[in-house]
Amino acid sequence: APPHGRWQGPVRQPVRREAADQDKEYVGFATLPNQVHRKSVKKGFDFTLMVAGESGLGKSTLVNSLFLTDLYKDRKLLNAEERITQTVEITKHTVDIEEKGVKLKLTIVDTPGFGDAVNNTECWKSVADYIDQQFEQYFRDESGLNRKNIQDNRVHCCLYFISPFGHGLRPLDVEFMKALHEKVNIVPILAKADTLTPIEVKKKKFKIREEIQQYGIKIYQFPDCDSDEDEDFKQQDQELKDSIPFAVIGSNTVVEAKGKRVRGRLYPWGIVEVENSAHCDFVKLRNMLVRTHMQDLKDVTRETHYENYRAHCIQSMTRMVVKERNRNKLTRESGTDFPIPVIPSTTDTETEKLIREKDEEKIVQIKKNP
Ligand code: GDP
Repeated sequence: APPHGRWQGPVRQPVRREAADQDKEYVGFATLPNQVHRKSVKKGFDFTLMVAGESGLGKSTLVNSLFLTDLYKDRKLLNAEERITQTVEITKHTVDIEEKGVKLKLTIVDTPGFGDAVNNTECWKSVADYIDQQFEQYFRDESGLNRKNIQDNRVHCCLYFISPFGHGLRPLDVEFMKALHEKVNIVPILAKADTLTPIEVKKKKFKIREEIQQYGIKIYQFPDCDSDEDEDFKQQDQELKDSIPFAVIGSNTVVEAKGKRVRGRLYPWGIVEVENSAHCDFVKLRNMLVRTHMQDLKDVTRETHYENYRAHCIQSMTRMVVKERNRNKLTRESGTDFPIPVIPSTTDTETEKLIREKDEEKIVQIKKNP
């Protein structure tokens, strides 16, 4: 029997026996997908989406249109003077949405003030720090004693809004994406596409894609589809890849177009419909985020971005242990032994703090349950 007090795995759900289970020829592991399905539906899903880009590009409008909720009820808009000195702050809005019994906890991380100040050098820094902090918190929780109820706040995707008024990327866009591309899945968005003609959209998309490549920016890569997928699916997948950056239109109002009430923008010369794929890539973006690639975005976050962070952390911890060992050896052997050279690390002090905290945590726990 396991020693007293040891965690014995998750609380098990009663297994519902399928009729086919009675069949002798059938062991029953074909029900594994159903078991996983039932469990994950019960647990619910979560997704954290970050929106970044200059203010006024329609980020909040788009988020509201994407999830059909008003996520920004209590938003305070600053005037020009206040924005001059404003630093980038990070705000979080969480909503629980449910659809056909499936629950999704959606967190939107916004970065108001980005690109607003007179001097915007390094204004991506607080965004990068925020993402690192979420990784750090997860790393602490994961290596702590209570791993059962970890609150996962890692950012799974960052929609980066590019202005439709510039000629391609601006220096700030390049700087931001380069600083963050190894921390988060960046999906570039061409904002307010209704301000451009279809030809302009096409040209601008081409230019942006070219610049992304030229500057070595690694945006989120859609996974290649399997060779045994049907042709329709392959074509859809290719179209999705060719749509980058998604040209979107957002609107918080419902207008009447051809007798139907739709989300759109009403102009003296006509109506642009948000959900009309002839008008913009909104539906493509929403399908990608919600229907087809949400799990992949989470997987890449866990397997690539978080793993990088974690490997870096462990490396510096190991370096520190070696350093400590060498220091002890040196004092014991009165300096005869030459220590192994240690590459200095910028995160050493932080790692030291982390280890110290971990040790203290253990001591407290041991005192509680000797
Ligand atoms: P944020 O600061 O990036 O969150 O931008 P907001 O969502 O507050 O939008 C700023 C302004 O742009 C508002 O007046 C919106 O009505 C308008 N807006 C939002 N989306 C669009 C769009 O797709 N096209 C156009 N033309 N205007 C938009």
